[in-house]
Amino acid sequence: MKSWKNKNWDKFSKKEKIYKQAKKKDQGSKTDQTFILTSKQWEEKILSGLFPARVVEVQKKYIFVAPENLSGKIKTKDVRIATVAKKHTQIYRKERNFVVVGDRVLCQSAVINENIGSDLPQCSLEYRLSRENKLSRIDPLLASREHVLASNVDQLVIVASYLHPRVKWGLIDRYLIVAEHENIKPIIILNKKDLLDGLEKESFVKDCINMESLYTKLGYEVHSFQADKRKISKEEKLKLKSIFSKKISLLSGHSGVGKSSIVNLLGPEIIQDVETDAILTKGRHTTTFASFLKLKIGGYVIDTPGIRSFKVETNDPFSLSWGFVEMRPYIEKCKYRTCRHERGDECKVVEALDQGLISERRYQSYLGLLLGTSGREGRMSVQMTE
Ligand code: GDP
Ligand code: ZN
Repeated sequence: MKSWKNKNWDKFSKKEKIYKQAKKKDQGSKTDQTFILTSKQWEEKILSGLFPARVVEVQKKYIFVAPENLSGKIKTKDVRIATVAKKHTQIYRKERNFVVVGDRVLCQSAVINENIGSDLPQCSLEYRLSRENKLSRIDPLLASREHVLASNVDQLVIVASYLHPRVKWGLIDRYLIVAEHENIKPIIILNKKDLLDGLEKESFVKDCINMESLYTKLGYEVHSFQADKRKISKEEKLKLKSIFSKKISLLSGHSGVGKSSIVNLLGPEIIQDVETDAILTKGRHTTTFASFLKLKIGGYVIDTPGIRSFKVETNDPFSLSWGFVEMRPYIEKCKYRTCRHERGDECKVVEALDQGLISERRYQSYLGLLLGTSGREGRMSVQMTE
């Protein structure tokens, strides 16, 4: 197979640029305009005495924020309960994604409302900064409704284990598509390397090696680890720390792959003493909540159970194939903008596939999503704007 290593994926054609810009807009619905600020408006409002904070957890009834200083340091030990300012309560009730973990908000300190029944300082939530990026999943109750899980992250760390559970490359592709669409740097971590000991000759292991090199050639960062603290080497631990240090990372991957083990190696500072508070644990099992964990090495991890099912747009072949970086140079050379890149069409993607410029594996992954044959997660969809 020819290598596409030297191709410059960032050189987008005009059409792609327009597409990217459209995607990056964070306009919100019309009614949101009084709540969502541009960076410029944000700067002005800060001067008027409001304090900036990060949303660190959202529960059915309460929003938790932690003050963030100008250098981006988030005081995760100083969690406050935020009540949405009166002027926004109407939209807040209607809008499911009004604020999500990772949102940057402006708050005003408020006097303690005894009805809330907590000793945490309280504040009123006045504005939110336009989101740089966001990750969503399908609303479990209504498939057409978007549920934003987190926003403003620096990187998406995709964790999979080689075995127990066995790595699903198709799932990694889906996470990559989401990262591409949201312009978030993805990092792939393949964990439980120790389980491959003695299996070097197995075709499964050879296949893993090929896939790792495929993703590396596509320009993705791929790391192989064993997060078991008795097995990890000093070098591996340093490497792991360097990946997470000074970044806001969103951790994703099926349960059992080793996400918690990885976080534990990074020295998380559990932010919520909050968690033991009776009123705050109410509803914990009924709502999806995300946590914003501070790491002793500097940096933060967002770990949410819902992250296993991102939205991936499957009904628009252009946007779906755009999520496969190696297809980009060909998709817009296809005869029709609506080309589904299936065999039999006059299709440049298929031509590139036949020339070995696109791997069969990734193409099949694309087709699986297009045709909805890639399992449960295949039904997800990515949105262009908030
Ligand atoms: P999570 O559900 O993704 O948070 O996964 P956990 O961190 O809870 O790990 C699931 C199981 O895998 C636990 O029993 C861990 O001890 C085990 N585990 C984690 N990392 C490794 C590893 O590198 N090698 C092996 N053999 N087991 C691991
Ligand atoms: Zn095509």
